[in-house]
Amino acid sequence: MCRFAGPVAVQCLFVVFTAMAAAGVSRHPVIVVMSFDGFRPDYIRPDVTPHMARFRDASASPPYMRSVFPTKTFVNHFTMATGMYSETHGVLDNYMFDKDYKRMHYTYEQFHYDDSVVPIWIQNENNGDGRYSGVMMWSGSEFAYQNKYPTYIQIYNHSMPWTNRIDTIMSWIKDKNKPANLVYAYFEEPDNTSHLKGVNAQETINQIVRADATLKYILDQIKHEQLENKINLIILSDHGMDTVTYDRMIHLDNYVSNTTYKSVISGPNAFIHPNPNKFDEVYKNLSKVVNTSRTFNVFKQDELPDRWHMKNNTRLKNIIYLLAKPEYAFWNKYFELILSGTTKEKFKVGAHGYDNEEPLMRAIFMASGPAFKKNYSAVQFNNVDIYPLISRIAGLTEPSRPIDGTIKGVEQLLSPQPVGAAPVSTSPVLGILSALLLHAIARSL
Ligand SMILES: [Zn+2]
Repeated sequence: MCRFAGPVAVQCLFVVFTAMAAAGVSRHPVIVVMSFDGFRPDYIRPDVTPHMARFRDASASPPYMRSVFPTKTFVNHFTMATGMYSETHGVLDNYMFDKDYKRMHYTYEQFHYDDSVVPIWIQNENNGDGRYSGVMMWSGSEFAYQNKYPTYIQIYNHSMPWTNRIDTIMSWIKDKNKPANLVYAYFEEPDNTSHLKGVNAQETINQIVRADATLKYILDQIKHEQLENKINLIILSDHGMDTVTYDRMIHLDNYVSNTTYKSVISGPNAFIHPNPNKFDEVYKNLSKVVNTSRTFNVFKQDELPDRWHMKNNTRLKNIIYLLAKPEYAFWNKYFELILSGTTKEKFKVGAHGYDNEEPLMRAIFMASGPAFKKNYSAVQFNNVDIYPLISRIAGLTEPSRPIDGTIKGVEQLLSPQPVGAAPVSTSPVLGILSALLLHAIARSL
């Protein structure tokens, strides 16, 4: 207790003030990004997702956010972590070829096409001054970048309850010694269930409701900790979801001899690596199928559309790329497995990876907190711009490697108040203490 008046009281109050701040949260703006995999904008309905509907209306939110191509999970999560297109960061799909044309899935090599590419959770810590990052199951977060890891990592663990994930995030933010000012958190639904059961299945709707309940849970925690005016909460997704029935499955083996090439196929996307001296033959045969079936498109590397920002990448060397048209997909073992539990007539699965201009591939975005405008209907933007948005709020320096995203499309979301300036008091107690401190200073002058 401080029983002194005058300058000693000032000192005393200052000690109390700094002690409270140390036990609280970061003095930097705090940003929490939560991604619900495969969550489509039209899933938000006041009767199904009341909390998300309310949160969206009260926050800065566009009708949708545009994903990068291909509209796949690792690709888009790594884009949102690096501010780069797939051709720049090199993650071209969840499943792809490694340098020896072997199948690669979630490996160090996959996320290290270029060692100068650094996720924002590392850039945040590189900026120092008490900045700490926490990453919960986000694609690529288990790997070191330039030999560095974020302060807090929870590796992917499907069985960890979502409320526990939120509790962990809150503990990172409230850590006495190293309070996190930046958190990236991943939730694997409704993607997982909609792949297996289709978009309209009750099981998928249950997962959409679960996401809504999880948003309510973190909002309750933030309120309980009196951090509503401190935490900037961003809810987003990586891509949308389409529906494919059995009659729209493309069986490549029926058209092109699978002894002439190796392939990595996932849903509507396929990398084809022809055997030596077979490139032209395989390409010609596939082009014939394209012309007769009209169910997919075939591309040599230099034929990929510029707007996909995928073609300028050495991982496409000696590759023929296939993309199915909406509602179609390439048959593979994953679908075989699903078919073993149902009939061809009832077979209905979710798929994504299509052209990022397809309306069903659109993602969600909504942001609320001191950095953002309230009740703001924004214009849609690209998810490659998430990095510059967060960088601006966190007050980070430009990364040494230029990024593809720009602040232009997302600046509209920010409240006119300068962000990253004065720390916001974290509770009424702190508010009273700072008022007392100012009063004491004024008296002692
Ligand atoms: Zn996904």
